[in-house]
Amino acid sequence: MISETPDWVWNARFTHWWFKKDRETRDVEHHFNSAFSGIASDREIARVIGKLKRARINAVLTHGIVRLVKLNELGLAPRVIAGTKHVVDACHDADIRVIHHCSAGLAAQTLREVRQKEWLTVDSRTGTYGHLDQWGGWYWYCVNNPGYRRHYFNLATEFLQGSGVDGFMVDEVYFRTGWGTCACPHCKRKFKRRTGYALPGRNDSAFWGNMEDPRFREWLRFRCASVGDFYADLASTLKRIDPHQVLLGCKNKEENQRHSQQYGDHNDERMRGVNLLFYETENSSSILYNWQTRAVSLRLYLALGHAYSTPTMTFMRNMNANEDFLSWALRAAHGMRMWAASRGAMLGVPTHIFRSAESQSFHEKVFGWEADHETELVRSVLPFSNVAVLFSASTRDMYKGSHADYYAEEWFGWCRVLLEANIQYEVIVESGLDNPGLAQYDHLILPNAACLSDRQCDQIRQFVDRGGSLIMTHETSLLDETGERRADFALGDLIGASYRRTLEGTHLPVVFDEFPGSGTQGEARGICSTEYYPCPQVLISVGPGVSAVGTTTVDECTEPVVVCRRQGKSRLVYLGNKPGLMYYTPQRVTGTKPIRPFTSEEDRARYKRLMLNAIRWAMRDKFNLLTEHVPEGVMVKAFRQCRCDNEAVVIHLLNCLGATYGPNDVIPAGHQVTFPKIKRDMTIELRGRKIRDAYVISPDWKGKRDVAFKQVRGGCRITIPANFLRRYSVVYAR
Ligand SMILES: [Zn+2]
Repeated sequence: MISETPDWVWNARFTHWWFKKDRETRDVEHHFNSAFSGIASDREIARVIGKLKRARINAVLTHGIVRLVKLNELGLAPRVIAGTKHVVDACHDADIRVIHHCSAGLAAQTLREVRQKEWLTVDSRTGTYGHLDQWGGWYWYCVNNPGYRRHYFNLATEFLQGSGVDGFMVDEVYFRTGWGTCACPHCKRKFKRRTGYALPGRNDSAFWGNMEDPRFREWLRFRCASVGDFYADLASTLKRIDPHQVLLGCKNKEENQRHSQQYGDHNDERMRGVNLLFYETENSSSILYNWQTRAVSLRLYLALGHAYSTPTMTFMRNMNANEDFLSWALRAAHGMRMWAASRGAMLGVPTHIFRSAESQSFHEKVFGWEADHETELVRSVLPFSNVAVLFSASTRDMYKGSHADYYAEEWFGWCRVLLEANIQYEVIVESGLDNPGLAQYDHLILPNAACLSDRQCDQIRQFVDRGGSLIMTHETSLLDETGERRADFALGDLIGASYRRTLEGTHLPVVFDEFPGSGTQGEARGICSTEYYPCPQVLISVGPGVSAVGTTTVDECTEPVVVCRRQGKSRLVYLGNKPGLMYYTPQRVTGTKPIRPFTSEEDRARYKRLMLNAIRWAMRDKFNLLTEHVPEGVMVKAFRQCRCDNEAVVIHLLNCLGATYGPNDVIPAGHQVTFPKIKRDMTIELRGRKIRDAYVISPDWKGKRDVAFKQVRGGCRITIPANFLRRYSVVYAR
């Protein structure tokens, strides 16, 4: 990061504002609209600011003036800058910050329109300019082109100096047309200089798309690094004018391998320049089916946030107003910064919160509550968990190819099981394996973390030597961090097994026994098969002292599938298939037919029990937060808050009972989200912690309510009366 995240961002509530006079356009067009005939009247500006203030918005994103290069070519830049300055001044007078939302990569829809064709990307597949057949069709500027970069950085400098904005959200900095781009002379030269490799021609089928070829993997990394370079250089340029600028990008779903592999969009690279993370959901999913998946994604953004000491701004597309509350509360429960919008696809007209009485009033309520409770809520995102799950960006990018089932869905499945069981877990990114990162945890889960460096494996080994427990699955540690295959697991010594081979596309029945001494016999016994979807299976040889608690049969031979062993104080488990993948549920929208999960509902339940049994055995139930009488479907998320001499624990309780569906249920479109009544008082035990007082706050009622707690051996127990949780409540204990 070039500059630290300014303090105000930690408490920011964002929304967007189309303040130019020109007619708003619908859907994606607004983003590309380059008309500008002036800004709204002072009266209108004052009226909107009044509404924003009432909704406790303290940061605005400009809207509808994203194309800096185009506006400049049209001779409109001076007027856009002057108009923006007028709005920025009015906002600043009202204590509202302004971020300029702009685009970098979008060039034009026709070649005729492009003034500098030499700035365009070149697609190696066609030998001609890169073209995206989406959003009406677009040509793209190349982020490595020196002339274009100079021009763009100058425009951004002029914009900052002239308008006085507080930061930039720069979109479309990537190679959006896929891994065939960019093969322009600048990219080829830079690739050769950085890696020593010449970029092969378009007919070299041994190279393109071949993850076994180290040159191709270098190419993918090079593209991500180039995007990072653009942000880093832009940040340095802006910093010279104002060291407190906010800079963020867009369009990154950290878990999605497509974004890094195909577009070159990679958070670790981008964070070299930006100082605020961004997350948005797809149009194609509804929170009712997918709150669990979204909660897991938000957890991953918290991990990045910890690694880079920055919050995340989040944008969720809600299908209808009924989903608004759940969508807001899910993010609030993860300490996220909100970009408020009323519903809509791509930020078209109806999405301005102040244009909809319903949305305005909704945000006045929830943001008003947030603003009244900054003491409890701001910066309350430090980990409160002794369980870490690694998200391996190297595996996402360098392993096998561009399918979510190779890596991300296995990872999702494990996190989802922990989430549903309300076992507090922390996602860590690769830098979290560095000291002292891992020392904070007692348990580590590596869901098919296939690509690990020798150094990372040493760090994991030291963690186990110190008594940490470990669960790993499938091809964990079989490749190095660059995607180069090893002959054996690098962590094989820990699990007492060595790698033999991987059976792809199998539907093997699996028989489970018990984890020794865990009393879980038979609970997960016999997963008949992976009925619909093949699950790859790793075959291993086990050493002495290793017990196989799960087996399968291949060519009439019994093969170990799940093994466990003890080493000193540590417990170690290996699962050769991908139970997380088999538990994963594809995302979908309300009103649509179910998408089949990867196996039958019965087997899904068995996979879940298998994972929970493995977790409970390896961790001996030593979790630092235990719940009692908290029904599955009520999400419990705990964080630490450190402030001066005071350390508090902040526990979010979110009632998702009305949004908990089976994979075969169909939710009608427009369905009203319900929040079924909590029937029993709930107990939360915090291990290893004494508290002086505890109270509950909630947007569902006014004020604070004290809760009873008592110190018990090794910690304290807090009892939350059933009627203290209607939709969403927060326990503040210190
Ligand atoms: Zn290029």
